[in-house]
Amino acid sequence: MNRSVLVTGASRGIGAAAAQAFAAAGDRVAVHYGSSHSAAEAVLAKLPGDGHVLAHADLADPAQILSMVDSAAEALGSIDVLVNNAGIYAAHPIRDTSYDEWQRAWSDTLGVNLVGAANVTWCAVRHMGRGGRIVNVSSRGAFRGEPNQPAYGASKAAIVSFSQSLARALGPEGIAVTAIAPGWTTTDMAAEALAGDGYNRRRLESPLERVATPDEVAAAILYLASPEAEFATGTVLDFNGGSHLRM
Ligand code: NAD
Repeated sequence: MNRSVLVTGASRGIGAAAAQAFAAAGDRVAVHYGSSHSAAEAVLAKLPGDGHVLAHADLADPAQILSMVDSAAEALGSIDVLVNNAGIYAAHPIRDTSYDEWQRAWSDTLGVNLVGAANVTWCAVRHMGRGGRIVNVSSRGAFRGEPNQPAYGASKAAIVSFSQSLARALGPEGIAVTAIAPGWTTTDMAAEALAGDGYNRRRLESPLERVATPDEVAAAILYLASPEAEFATGTVLDFNGGSHLRM
């Protein structure tokens, strides 16, 4: 589609699949990564088409975000689509976590999943005009809680509200903002939960009796960012294999 797209957390998982999907659709992609330069380079090397770039920043650091987004916009010419995909998911069950660890888990998780995404967005909208699209990756956990990762669940619920607020703020400028709430997806983030017997338990949460692939989630992100989906602004797409029906 010849648009400029910034995908955060694109060195693996859903972000890497999204980078691939946008590139296959004819867009130029800034492949953002936090720590693994070689993994991001490998993603970049496989993208079809030309003009893709790497973009590095630790999303816990607002200064790094500002320079990363400005460099990506300069390299691509603009940012037409932003996918706030990067996220962390760490256990901190309330009864088994020290007060220090609890503090750290909340500030780290909200710092990346919510404040990081908000900061990337602030920086990116300076390079975005009419027809712009922002897709924020939330989670099914936003709606049913995460007993062992409460900061994660809270961050993903906040992402829903953030998406709705920005849909209202930016709609008059012709920028549509949506969120997607995936269920279990086969990525490194979910590897522990989906290992061994975990896979069987989790796949049966869905009437389809399986979990999602990163490519499926990426295809839904591509749709939400498409010109055809503009009227879906403010939408939160449940993308969980119908698992909410079985819970
Ligand atoms: P993943 O762990 O494979 O990818 C997460 C990406 O975020 C990685 O590339 C990582 O480097 C990046 N990242 C994390 N912290 C960062 C930081 N401080 N700075 C820069 N980058 C950072 O996981 P995934 O499953 O591909 O997750 C992608 C998104 O999908 C996340 O927002 C996640 O919460 C969401 N999600 C995943 C699932 C699932 O089952 N896998 C379900 C629902 C929602």
